[in-house]
Parts: sequence; C-alpha cells; structure tokens
Amino acid sequence: MATSDKSDLVKIYHSLGRKKRLGTVILFVTSACNAKCRTCFYWQELNQPGDLTWDEIRRLSLGMPAFTDFWLSGGEPMLRRELTDIIHLFHTQNGVRWVNLPTNGLLPARTAEWISRICEENPGLQLDLNVATDGLHAMQDSLRAVPGNFTKTLETLEAVQPCRRKFPQLRVNVNTVICAENFDHVMAIAEFVKANCAVDGHYFNIIRGNAQDPTLKQIPTQRLATLYRDLQAVYDYYADQVFRRRTGLGRKIAQVYYHGTLALHNKIQLENISSPHPWPMPCTAGETSIVIDSNGDVRSCELRSRLANLRDYGCDFEKFWQAQARAEELEAIGRDQCWCTHVCFIHDSLRHSPKVLLYDIPLTYLESKFSSPSTQGHGFQAVPSLAGPAAR
Ligand code: SF4
Ligand code: SF4
Repeated sequence: MATSDKSDLVKIYHSLGRKKRLGTVILFVTSACNAKCRTCFYWQELNQPGDLTWDEIRRLSLGMPAFTDFWLSGGEPMLRRELTDIIHLFHTQNGVRWVNLPTNGLLPARTAEWISRICEENPGLQLDLNVATDGLHAMQDSLRAVPGNFTKTLETLEAVQPCRRKFPQLRVNVNTVICAENFDHVMAIAEFVKANCAVDGHYFNIIRGNAQDPTLKQIPTQRLATLYRDLQAVYDYYADQVFRRRTGLGRKIAQVYYHGTLALHNKIQLENISSPHPWPMPCTAGETSIVIDSNGDVRSCELRSRLANLRDYGCDFEKFWQAQARAEELEAIGRDQCWCTHVCFIHDSLRHSPKVLLYDIPLTYLESKFSSPSTQGHGFQAVPSLAGPAAR
C-alpha cells in the first residue's frame, strides 16, 4: 500500500476518535459591507458601529483553546483593516489550520494583495477564498444591488490568479447562493464559470435565514433534487482538480468520502427544506463550533439566539465557555429539535459521529451513484475535509 493510501486511512481512523471539543469558530470580522445583496440574511446588522476592536480580538484569541477551522464572515471581510493580522494571530496562537474566506469580489486589487500576504505569512495554512457569484451580467448586479458588480467579480477572479499559481495552499472558489430568481440559471452560471474562470471549485448554497428580499426564498423546492442531480457534472469536474495530486487507493478513498459527504449534506438539506427532520447525528453546535458576531455577541449557530456578549466577560472566552448560559443552551438544542439546512453545522456535526463516518457517508455515496436520478442529491460546499483542511 502506498504511503499516501496509508495516510488517508490513518486520517479517517483518527476522525473516528475525534473528541467533542471546540474545533470550528465562525467569526464575523466586521459589520461593514459595500454591497446590498437581496439574498443577505445579515442585512439588518450591517454597517453598525461596535465591531470588536483589534485589542479585543487579541484578548479573545488569548483565552481561546486551540481549534482548527476558522470561518470568516461579515459584512465584507475585505473591509476589515486588520484582516490579515487576525488570520495570522489565530494561526500562530490558536493553531488554526484552515480558513474559509468569503468575499463579494468588489475589491479586486486589495483582495489580490491581502491573499498574497496571508499565504506568505502563514505557509502552513490552507486557505479557501470564495468569490460570490449569484448570476451572470445584469442578474449579478441586480441580486447584489451593485451596478457593475459582475465586472468586478471577474476582475477579482483574475487578480488572484498569480497568487493561486504561486501558493499550493490557496484554493480559489466561486460560491453561488441559489434563490428564486437564479434557480433556472444555476447551470448556466456553472457552465460560464467552467468556461471562463480559473477556479478550484464551485459551491452552491440554498438561500437561508431572513433574506432582505423574502420573495427570493420562494424557490421551487420540488425541483431541488433534480437541480442537485444536474450539478453532479459540475461536481465531478472540480473533484478531479481537488484530488489531482493523489493516486491509487488513496485517491479512491478520498473521492468516496468527498462525494459521500457532499451527497449526505444535500440529503439532509432536502429532508429539512420544508420542516425540521432529525439529522443522522446529534447537532454539536455550541459544543464543537461557535459563532462570534462582529459586535461580540456569541451564538451556538447562526440560527439560534444570542447567548451572551463576550464584552460582558471582558473578552475572556474561557469564562464564557464555562458559563451556565452555554450549558443550558446545549440542553435546549437537544430539546428544541431545531433541525435545519445549515451546511457548516451539518458538516461539523457529522465529523463527530463514528456512525455517520463509517456507515452513512459510504452508504450515501453508493446511493448517489446507483439510485434513481430523482433521489440523487449533490451540492458543493467549501468545507474542510473530514480529517482537517481540504485536500488539493
Ligand atoms: S451577503 Fe455578504 S456581501 Fe452581500 S450584503 Fe450581505 S454581508 Fe454584504
Ligand atoms: S440543528 Fe441547526 S438550528 Fe439547531 S442548533 Fe444545530 S445548526 Fe442550529
């Protein structure tokens, strides 16, 4: 057996023993945003005063345990002056190994400069840059409510290419939010990106939360499974790139888990699109993952209520972590049965379930390969691998 095959099996074996401790932090680095997306679930919180200061973030980092996965959010992260310092801080002080960085693509030159700096300063860090593309031409400008947005999106994707070629730890992806207005154009967007943009992945998320334009949430859910099936071809196209450096059995194992995990995400999302339906594993939000808003509010997940404000604890994360409010929240999550479609938390939770890792993922992979088209489901989320940062 080749060394890479062994290392893949060892990674999966270690995943089975993953302890339930904090591993994923979602940090809204700023509330400032230069777009007005009609799909935005955070629109009421945007452009407010009170972002955590750099000093407060440093204090937070000091009191936080080691964790691996760092999802940045906002606002527009490229508007946070200390963005590269924040990433460097959590990489060096908290051991972060993977960063998911979304951008609305409106600042091409800054994005190229900062991405390059992040890669230079943090050679051991895996970075996924996700550029939002919800439509082509006028549709992108309309959905994101910024004239000329589509042109800027393409400029950003072009501007980061030198960096993408230089740094193997950087993946540049396109992210598309599926909504009522672009539902029938999703495949055309995917084909355009394949033909015109040099990217490593194209991921699709269903519109969620309290969108600024509620009509965009009226997607034809009965056609969603068919859309996921059609997107299979896009998925296959990029999967070859993701695992292009692997060979033999290691490549096959990685592909089964990559395909199977994405298929399971979508199966769970389809089951929960209309009403809550139990996941195949307990939700571990608030235990293995936490959300920190730009003003220091802290929540178990983006869908549940604020638990506290970290400023009330002097930005001492450990004090918050031991607080009664969090213990009560963990009990409440179990009681509330608030099953949802949120992929970040689905993914984080499944990594802590040996049953899902050994049974549901391989089974869902087989189902997706051999079942009838109407029951297939594949979607594409920029997620870390089961055993850590995404493979290239
Ligand atoms: S979705 Fe992102 S880019 Fe668009 S308005 Fe909301 S925070 Fe800004
Ligand atoms: S099931 Fe969904 S809404 Fe409930 S705690 Fe988990 S992520 Fe949040």
